[in-house]
Amino acid sequence: MTTQALQPHFRLEQKRRIIGDFPGPKSTALNARRSAVVAKGVASGVPVYVADADGGILHDVDGNSFIDFGSGIAVTSVGASDPAVVGAVKEQAEHFTHTCFMVTPYEGYIAVAEKLAELTPGDFEKRTVLFNSGAEAVENAVKIARMATGRPAVAAFDHAYHGRTNLTMALTAKSLPYKAGPDGTFGPFASEVYRLPMSYPFREENPSITGEEAAQRAISVMEKQIGAESLAAIIIEPVQGEGGFIVPADGFMPTLAAWAKEKGVVFIADEVQSGFCRTGEWFAVNHEGVVPDLITMAKGIAGGMPLSAVTGRADLLDAVHPGGLGGTYGGNPVACAAALAAIDTMTELDLSARARRIEEIVVPRLRALQEQTDIIGEVRGRGAMLAVEFVLPGTREPNPVATKAIAAACLEEGVIILTCGTYGNIIRLLPPLVIGEELLNDGLDVLEKAIRAVK
Ligand SMILES: *Cc1c(COP(=O)(O)O)cnc(C)c1O
Repeated sequence: MTTQALQPHFRLEQKRRIIGDFPGPKSTALNARRSAVVAKGVASGVPVYVADADGGILHDVDGNSFIDFGSGIAVTSVGASDPAVVGAVKEQAEHFTHTCFMVTPYEGYIAVAEKLAELTPGDFEKRTVLFNSGAEAVENAVKIARMATGRPAVAAFDHAYHGRTNLTMALTAKSLPYKAGPDGTFGPFASEVYRLPMSYPFREENPSITGEEAAQRAISVMEKQIGAESLAAIIIEPVQGEGGFIVPADGFMPTLAAWAKEKGVVFIADEVQSGFCRTGEWFAVNHEGVVPDLITMAKGIAGGMPLSAVTGRADLLDAVHPGGLGGTYGGNPVACAAALAAIDTMTELDLSARARRIEEIVVPRLRALQEQTDIIGEVRGRGAMLAVEFVLPGTREPNPVATKAIAAACLEEGVIILTCGTYGNIIRLLPPLVIGEELLNDGLDVLEKAIRAVK
């Protein structure tokens, strides 16, 4: 926040405005069309349809303006229509929208790989391969680890979320709604996936357990139940996303990474949600100086265009034979152009500093509120990846009912808030990193009022 020149410029007025009841007539009409043709398995949390979005504001088709505290699930960190991203997309689309990098390659793919080599931690030689979604990056990181080690097993954690494809469903911890429904299952799931106990400071039975001790608990499972010689990779979200914005205790990740290194196990950081300035650093592993062997990235990488990546040690990635990795759309040229522009915006506006500033504004306000109510168990997170965990008054019992009611009350007032957590009792704040402070505080006023109103 040093120079005015680095303030983002917004096309839409950054103001919340709700006119009457919503969904309005146009959204209601779209909902009717939708239910006739769109599968009900894909559900939407907000019942209005978007007409325009910019900075921290989202306009619906009936003229309401909402504050966006979700960024399309941590995607539009640079805003939903960052001028640099829009310009780059237009420019690239005017030339070619697709050729397939596996058929006729192009420069943008290489430029993204160069950027990722520069931005990710580790001063060793790196390689990158690009895909479309977070799940696809995770699947491929596991494929690479298996090929490079010749070992089959993969260890993932309690509360983990890694996606919805077959292998990533197996890696994901939570059953409903990702792996099963009330009356059925998406299984059978991929084999050779093992579950490790996570470090979840707020829910530890022994609250004084250290990060190192929690890591030893997981290492014991790997040594006793899997066997290091069978283990290709450990995959971990440095700040868990869907599972509840869980920040492991200090020392947890470094201890695991050191053990993995000693045993020749590939340490994969799934930074799909936590990457790209979200936590106040380029990557969340930077907070503890952990250098993963492979990093998976997506969400915030390309200003809203679908792109994902695996970046890591050259010897691991290059263990895969030519033709062993790829996909028709992976590293699409328009998505690559968007990523290069989004990364430029992150650098120019120093969005890591903005994420830290958001933490500085949000956390003290919510901690002060925690003192005045008995339903907030914990306020936690890093940078602009922040959460409130709700409990039954005076206990540690999850309170999903209050959580839902608070999110609904915020929406009524025009603030889009996402929930998450294994127990459905967490409100997560993921504002675009470019959000103005006035708008941020207005949204927080609404959230605070909604929390106070819970009986
Ligand atoms: C969202 C997410 C994924 C899956 O990404 P998709 O693009 O939805 O496939 C994987 N890992 C983490 C940590 C995520 O937050």
